[in-house]
Amino acid sequence: MSEKLDSILKEALERIDSSDTTEKLNEVRVDVLGKKGKLKTVLKGMKDVDPKDRPAVGQMVNDAREKIEGELDFIKQKIEREALDKRLKDEVIDVTLPARRNKIGHRHPNTIVLGELERIFIGMGYEVVEGPDIELDLYNFEKLNIPANHPAKDEQDTFYINKDIVLRTQTSPVQARVMEKGKLPIRMIAPGRVFRADEVDATHSPSFHQVEGLVIDKHITFSDLKGTLAEFAKELFGPDTKTKFRPHHFPFTEPSAEMDVSCFKCGGKGCRFCKGEGWIEILGCGMVHPHVLEMSGIDPDEYTGFAFGVGLERIALLKYEIDDMRLLYENDQRFLNQF
Ligand SMILES: [Zn+2]
Repeated sequence: MSEKLDSILKEALERIDSSDTTEKLNEVRVDVLGKKGKLKTVLKGMKDVDPKDRPAVGQMVNDAREKIEGELDFIKQKIEREALDKRLKDEVIDVTLPARRNKIGHRHPNTIVLGELERIFIGMGYEVVEGPDIELDLYNFEKLNIPANHPAKDEQDTFYINKDIVLRTQTSPVQARVMEKGKLPIRMIAPGRVFRADEVDATHSPSFHQVEGLVIDKHITFSDLKGTLAEFAKELFGPDTKTKFRPHHFPFTEPSAEMDVSCFKCGGKGCRFCKGEGWIEILGCGMVHPHVLEMSGIDPDEYTGFAFGVGLERIALLKYEIDDMRLLYENDQRFLNQF
């Protein structure tokens, strides 16, 4: 009996030690320790053993089982460790190889300036509102006090889709749409793309961007307009920036003005940048025309307001001293990488 056990144990240990996969170890486990395994067969032979020897034989079987299980575990761990070592070796990363460079994009000058404008006006309690690029003639012109026969409609050289639909020539129609909703007071800016049938040159493009602002509330006066825009200019061009308002005409505001800022290059003394003027024209503005308020259902005796419009490209060109507007649209990386 004990000889038989010894030979089972010896054979099992040899098979285990020569195993190089966990599958082979499992085969040994089934063959020797399994339900129909060799050790079970030995136990079945117990009935032929002298009863007084049975405990001793039982103990031998248990010892053999323990040795085999111990060896199975030991070799299993060894195989797994070797497999892991091999994987680590195979999948090693050579950190001395040159890195693949990821090119990170960055913001376009227009986007930088728009972000700045939004930051300034949001800080003053304004809401940013967007509207459609393709607009009804009604909102682009009529509701802004530009009737069918008004010369401004010619001047603006509009892209007409049909007689009622245009590519918007300004972002002011967004203002008309907001006023019409009748939720007062209004404090908003409307940034967006606008279209005019201009030839492309250093200062013109058929598509460019505007940011228009609108405030409507009770007791809004021209001094609110001046104070707000003076503050805006200081935020954008520096705390020493002065502002100047020149009378002008726009159909949708009355009175209307153009605002100049003191040259941020020379501080107003006059230089090449401001063409010796000391001042740079920056935007158009004015008090909302009472008729415009009426057309949107707002009572001009109760409410007043001001509006302004600034060209995004104009600010970007000034701020970054770019002398040709076309550079902003050509997407030449050598140009754009500078910002
Ligand atoms: Zn200057």
